[in-house]
Amino acid sequence: MSGQSTSDHATPGRVTARSDVPVLMYHSVRADPPSATRTLSVHPDRFAAQLDALLELGLTPVPFGALVAHWRTGAGLPARPVVLTFDDGYADFHAEVLPRLVERGLTASLFVTTGWLADAAPADRAGAPLDATLCWSQLKEIEAAGIETGGHSHSHAALDAVRPGVLGDELARCRDLLEDRLGRAEQVFCYPFGYSDARVRTAVRSRGWAGACAVANTLARPAQGPYALARLTVRRRTELSTFRRLVQGVGVTRHYLADRALTKGYAVVRRTRTSLVPVRTWERDRP
Ligand SMILES: [Zn+2]
Repeated sequence: MSGQSTSDHATPGRVTARSDVPVLMYHSVRADPPSATRTLSVHPDRFAAQLDALLELGLTPVPFGALVAHWRTGAGLPARPVVLTFDDGYADFHAEVLPRLVERGLTASLFVTTGWLADAAPADRAGAPLDATLCWSQLKEIEAAGIETGGHSHSHAALDAVRPGVLGDELARCRDLLEDRLGRAEQVFCYPFGYSDARVRTAVRSRGWAGACAVANTLARPAQGPYALARLTVRRRTELSTFRRLVQGVGVTRHYLADRALTKGYAVVRRTRTSLVPVRTWERDRP
Protein backbone atom coordinates (compact mmCIF):
# COMPACT_ATOMS: atom_id res chain seq x y z
CA MET A 1 0.00 0.00 0.00
CA SER A 2 2.05 2.91 -1.17
CA GLY A 3 0.60 6.17 0.08
CA GLN A 4 3.10 8.25 -1.86
CA SER A 5 2.83 6.71 -5.27
CA THR A 6 1.29 8.72 -8.03
CA SER A 7 -1.64 6.84 -9.41
CA ASP A 8 -1.39 8.08 -12.95
CA HIS A 9 0.37 4.98 -14.07
CA ALA A 10 -1.39 2.59 -11.74
CA THR A 11 -3.05 -0.44 -13.15
CA PRO A 12 -6.83 -0.12 -12.95
CA GLY A 13 -8.03 -2.05 -9.93
CA ARG A 14 -5.07 -1.22 -7.73
CA VAL A 15 -6.53 1.71 -5.81
CA THR A 16 -6.59 0.53 -2.22
CA ALA A 17 -8.48 1.63 0.85
CA ARG A 18 -5.41 2.72 2.73
CA SER A 19 -3.42 4.61 0.12
CA ASP A 20 -5.57 6.74 -2.13
CA VAL A 21 -9.28 7.07 -2.65
CA PRO A 22 -11.27 9.01 -5.26
CA VAL A 23 -13.54 11.57 -3.62
CA LEU A 24 -15.81 13.01 -6.30
CA MET A 25 -17.12 16.58 -6.13
CA TYR A 26 -20.55 17.24 -7.58
CA HIS A 27 -22.77 20.28 -7.18
CA SER A 28 -25.93 19.77 -9.18
CA VAL A 29 -27.53 17.09 -11.33
CA ARG A 30 -30.01 18.66 -13.73
CA ALA A 31 -31.08 18.27 -17.34
CA ASP A 32 -31.55 22.00 -17.81
CA PRO A 33 -29.54 23.92 -15.22
CA PRO A 34 -29.30 27.71 -15.01
CA SER A 35 -26.17 29.18 -16.55
CA ALA A 36 -24.67 29.90 -13.11
CA THR A 37 -24.33 26.19 -12.28
CA ARG A 38 -24.17 24.72 -15.76
CA THR A 39 -20.49 23.78 -15.96
CA LEU A 40 -20.71 21.92 -12.65
CA SER A 41 -24.18 20.47 -13.20
CA VAL A 42 -24.12 16.91 -14.49
CA HIS A 43 -26.92 15.65 -16.74
CA PRO A 44 -29.11 13.11 -14.88
CA ASP A 45 -28.55 10.44 -17.55
CA ARG A 46 -24.79 10.94 -17.33
CA PHE A 47 -24.95 10.79 -13.56
CA ALA A 48 -26.85 7.49 -13.67
CA ALA A 49 -24.26 6.13 -16.09
CA GLN A 50 -21.49 7.24 -13.71
CA LEU A 51 -23.13 5.38 -10.82
CA ASP A 52 -23.44 2.27 -12.95
CA ALA A 53 -19.81 2.61 -13.99
CA LEU A 54 -18.70 2.73 -10.34
CA LEU A 55 -20.62 -0.46 -9.63
CA GLU A 56 -19.34 -2.17 -12.74
CA LEU A 57 -15.77 -1.29 -11.76
CA GLY A 58 -16.27 -2.80 -8.30
CA LEU A 59 -16.12 0.50 -6.42
CA THR A 60 -18.30 0.99 -3.34
CA PRO A 61 -19.52 4.48 -2.38
CA VAL A 62 -18.95 5.27 1.29
CA PRO A 63 -19.71 8.46 3.24
CA PHE A 64 -16.88 10.98 3.50
CA GLY A 65 -16.97 10.56 7.30
CA ALA A 66 -16.33 6.84 6.94
CA LEU A 67 -13.17 7.55 4.97
CA VAL A 68 -12.00 10.01 7.65
CA ALA A 69 -12.75 7.46 10.37
CA HIS A 70 -10.91 4.78 8.43
CA TRP A 71 -7.74 6.82 8.23
CA ARG A 72 -8.08 8.11 11.79
CA THR A 73 -8.97 4.92 13.63
CA GLY A 74 -8.65 2.07 11.18
CA ALA A 75 -12.44 1.67 11.02
CA GLY A 76 -13.41 -0.77 8.32
CA LEU A 77 -14.10 0.19 4.71
CA PRO A 78 -14.94 -1.81 1.61
CA ALA A 79 -11.91 -2.92 -0.38
CA ARG A 80 -12.36 -0.31 -3.13
CA PRO A 81 -14.10 2.75 -1.71
CA VAL A 82 -15.17 5.87 -3.55
CA VAL A 83 -16.84 8.93 -2.03
CA LEU A 84 -19.55 10.96 -3.78
CA THR A 85 -19.89 14.48 -2.39
CA PHE A 86 -22.45 17.13 -3.30
CA ASP A 87 -21.89 20.77 -2.39
CA ASP A 88 -24.27 23.61 -1.56
CA GLY A 89 -27.62 21.81 -1.05
CA TYR A 90 -29.43 22.33 -4.35
CA ALA A 91 -33.00 21.08 -4.69
CA ASP A 92 -32.03 18.77 -7.53
CA PHE A 93 -30.28 16.55 -4.99
CA HIS A 94 -33.73 15.47 -3.81
CA ALA A 95 -35.28 15.33 -7.27
CA GLU A 96 -32.49 13.77 -9.31
CA VAL A 97 -29.69 12.41 -7.13
CA LEU A 98 -31.55 10.74 -4.27
CA PRO A 99 -33.78 8.45 -6.38
CA ARG A 100 -30.79 7.28 -8.43
CA LEU A 101 -28.80 6.52 -5.29
CA VAL A 102 -31.71 4.80 -3.55
CA GLU A 103 -32.57 2.55 -6.48
CA ARG A 104 -28.98 1.30 -6.48
CA GLY A 105 -28.65 1.15 -2.68
CA LEU A 106 -25.83 3.72 -2.68
CA THR A 107 -24.81 6.44 -0.27
CA ALA A 108 -23.20 9.88 -0.62
CA SER A 109 -22.29 12.97 1.40
CA LEU A 110 -24.23 16.22 1.04
CA PHE A 111 -22.67 19.47 2.27
CA VAL A 112 -25.28 22.05 3.18
CA THR A 113 -25.02 25.84 3.19
CA THR A 114 -27.51 26.46 5.99
CA GLY A 115 -28.31 30.10 5.17
CA TRP A 116 -29.21 29.11 1.60
CA LEU A 117 -31.91 26.57 2.45
CA ALA A 118 -35.26 27.29 0.81
CA ASP A 119 -37.15 27.52 4.08
CA ALA A 120 -34.41 29.02 6.24
CA ALA A 121 -35.98 31.23 8.90
CA PRO A 122 -35.88 34.89 7.87
CA ALA A 123 -33.21 35.62 10.46
CA ASP A 124 -31.12 32.74 9.15
CA ARG A 125 -31.24 33.64 5.45
CA ALA A 126 -27.78 34.50 4.17
CA GLY A 127 -25.89 34.58 0.93
CA ALA A 128 -27.21 34.12 -2.59
CA PRO A 129 -27.71 30.54 -3.84
CA LEU A 130 -27.14 29.96 -7.54
CA ASP A 131 -30.18 27.74 -7.98
CA ALA A 132 -33.22 26.44 -6.04
CA THR A 133 -32.19 24.83 -2.76
CA LEU A 134 -33.43 22.06 -0.49
CA CYS A 135 -35.72 22.61 2.47
CA TRP A 136 -35.32 21.15 5.94
CA SER A 137 -37.95 18.43 5.53
CA GLN A 138 -36.15 17.19 2.41
CA LEU A 139 -32.89 17.12 4.34
CA LYS A 140 -34.51 14.89 6.95
CA GLU A 141 -35.77 12.59 4.24
CA ILE A 142 -32.31 12.53 2.65
CA GLU A 143 -30.69 11.65 5.98
CA ALA A 144 -33.29 8.94 6.58
CA ALA A 145 -32.27 7.41 3.24
CA GLY A 146 -28.75 6.93 4.60
CA ILE A 147 -27.11 9.94 3.02
CA GLU A 148 -24.53 11.72 5.18
CA THR A 149 -25.05 15.46 5.67
CA GLY A 150 -22.26 17.84 6.55
CA GLY A 151 -21.58 21.55 6.84
CA HIS A 152 -20.65 23.93 4.03
CA SER A 153 -20.68 27.17 6.10
CA HIS A 154 -23.72 29.37 6.73
CA SER A 155 -23.58 31.89 3.87
CA HIS A 156 -21.05 30.25 1.52
CA ALA A 157 -18.36 32.78 2.40
CA ALA A 158 -14.77 32.33 1.27
CA LEU A 159 -13.61 31.40 4.76
CA ASP A 160 -9.93 32.17 4.18
CA ALA A 161 -10.84 35.79 3.44
CA VAL A 162 -13.15 36.66 6.34
CA ARG A 163 -12.38 38.23 9.71
CA PRO A 164 -11.96 35.85 12.69
CA GLY A 165 -15.36 36.75 14.15
CA VAL A 166 -17.07 36.06 10.86
CA LEU A 167 -15.25 32.75 10.49
CA GLY A 168 -16.43 31.65 13.93
CA ASP A 169 -19.98 32.74 13.14
CA GLU A 170 -20.05 30.94 9.78
CA LEU A 171 -18.97 27.70 11.43
CA ALA A 172 -21.09 27.99 14.58
CA ARG A 173 -24.34 28.90 12.83
CA CYS A 174 -23.95 26.13 10.29
CA ARG A 175 -23.11 23.52 12.90
CA ASP A 176 -25.78 24.64 15.39
CA LEU A 177 -28.56 24.75 12.77
CA LEU A 178 -27.73 21.31 11.41
CA GLU A 179 -27.54 19.90 14.91
CA ASP A 180 -30.79 21.54 16.04
CA ARG A 181 -32.80 20.64 12.97
CA LEU A 182 -31.42 17.22 12.12
CA GLY A 183 -30.85 16.09 15.68
CA ARG A 184 -27.22 15.12 15.64
CA ALA A 185 -23.80 16.72 15.42
CA GLU A 186 -22.56 16.58 11.86
CA GLN A 187 -19.12 15.07 11.51
CA VAL A 188 -17.83 16.47 8.27
CA PHE A 189 -17.31 19.85 6.64
CA CYS A 190 -16.57 21.17 3.19
CA TYR A 191 -14.94 24.54 2.48
CA PRO A 192 -16.97 26.85 0.23
CA PHE A 193 -15.09 27.22 -3.09
CA GLY A 194 -12.60 24.74 -1.63
CA TYR A 195 -10.81 27.66 0.03
CA SER A 196 -9.07 27.11 3.34
CA ASP A 197 -5.86 27.96 5.09
CA ALA A 198 -4.31 26.87 8.39
CA ARG A 199 -6.52 29.28 10.36
CA VAL A 200 -9.69 27.98 8.76
CA ARG A 201 -8.70 24.35 9.17
CA THR A 202 -7.80 24.86 12.80
CA ALA A 203 -11.17 26.54 13.41
CA VAL A 204 -13.05 23.70 11.71
CA ARG A 205 -11.15 21.19 13.79
CA SER A 206 -11.73 23.05 17.04
CA ARG A 207 -15.48 23.24 16.32
CA GLY A 208 -15.60 19.47 16.44
CA TRP A 209 -15.79 18.44 12.81
CA ALA A 210 -13.88 15.22 12.28
CA GLY A 211 -12.72 16.05 8.78
CA ALA A 212 -13.12 18.37 5.84
CA CYS A 213 -12.71 18.22 2.13
CA ALA A 214 -11.07 20.66 -0.22
CA VAL A 215 -10.70 20.65 -4.00
CA ALA A 216 -7.27 19.66 -5.18
CA ASN A 217 -8.15 17.46 -8.15
CA THR A 218 -6.07 14.56 -6.98
CA LEU A 219 -6.94 11.40 -5.10
CA ALA A 220 -7.45 11.74 -1.34
CA ARG A 221 -4.52 10.43 0.68
CA PRO A 222 -3.77 10.23 4.42
CA ALA A 223 -0.77 12.58 4.04
CA GLN A 224 -3.15 15.43 3.15
CA GLY A 225 -4.47 15.31 6.73
CA PRO A 226 -8.13 15.05 7.70
CA TYR A 227 -8.92 18.74 7.11
CA ALA A 228 -7.86 19.07 3.48
CA LEU A 229 -8.70 15.81 1.78
CA ALA A 230 -8.63 16.24 -1.95
CA ARG A 231 -11.56 15.83 -4.30
CA LEU A 232 -11.92 15.34 -8.04
CA THR A 233 -14.19 17.81 -9.85
CA VAL A 234 -16.89 16.18 -11.98
CA ARG A 235 -18.04 18.61 -14.65
CA ARG A 236 -20.92 18.57 -17.09
CA ARG A 237 -18.43 17.99 -19.88
CA THR A 238 -16.66 15.09 -18.10
CA GLU A 239 -17.00 12.19 -20.53
CA LEU A 240 -17.94 8.79 -19.17
CA SER A 241 -14.67 7.30 -20.45
CA THR A 242 -12.75 10.02 -18.57
CA PHE A 243 -14.82 9.44 -15.45
CA ARG A 244 -14.00 5.73 -15.54
CA ARG A 245 -10.28 6.47 -15.72
CA LEU A 246 -10.35 9.10 -12.98
CA VAL A 247 -12.14 6.89 -10.44
CA GLN A 248 -9.50 4.25 -11.06
CA GLY A 249 -6.75 6.79 -10.42
CA VAL A 250 -5.59 6.70 -14.02
CA GLY A 251 -4.46 9.92 -15.73
CA VAL A 252 -5.66 12.17 -12.90
CA THR A 253 -2.80 14.68 -12.99
CA ARG A 254 -2.82 14.88 -16.76
CA HIS A 255 -6.58 15.32 -16.95
CA TYR A 256 -6.71 18.17 -14.46
CA LEU A 257 -3.74 20.00 -15.96
CA ALA A 258 -5.72 20.16 -19.18
CA ASP A 259 -8.88 20.98 -17.22
CA ARG A 260 -7.13 23.87 -15.49
CA ALA A 261 -6.10 25.35 -18.80
CA LEU A 262 -9.74 25.25 -19.87
CA THR A 263 -11.21 26.65 -16.67
CA LYS A 264 -11.50 30.41 -16.42
CA GLY A 265 -10.86 32.07 -13.08
CA TYR A 266 -8.86 29.20 -11.70
CA ALA A 267 -7.66 30.27 -8.24
CA VAL A 268 -3.95 29.62 -8.52
CA VAL A 269 -3.06 32.05 -5.74
CA ARG A 270 -5.51 30.60 -3.26
CA ARG A 271 -4.45 27.07 -4.07
CA THR A 272 -0.87 28.03 -3.37
CA ARG A 273 -1.86 29.47 -0.01
CA THR A 274 -3.85 26.36 0.71
CA SER A 275 -0.80 24.20 0.45
CA LEU A 276 1.32 26.17 2.94
CA VAL A 277 0.52 25.06 6.48
CA PRO A 278 -2.09 22.33 6.52
CA VAL A 279 -3.36 20.76 9.71
CA ARG A 280 -1.96 17.36 8.97
CA THR A 281 -2.33 15.69 12.32
CA TRP A 282 -5.03 13.04 12.60
CA GLU A 283 -5.34 13.90 16.31
CA ARG A 284 -8.77 15.26 17.03
CA ASP A 285 -10.01 18.21 19.05
CA ARG A 286 -13.17 17.53 20.99
CA PRO A 287 -15.66 20.39 21.11
ZN1 LIG B 1 -20.20 25.44 -2.47
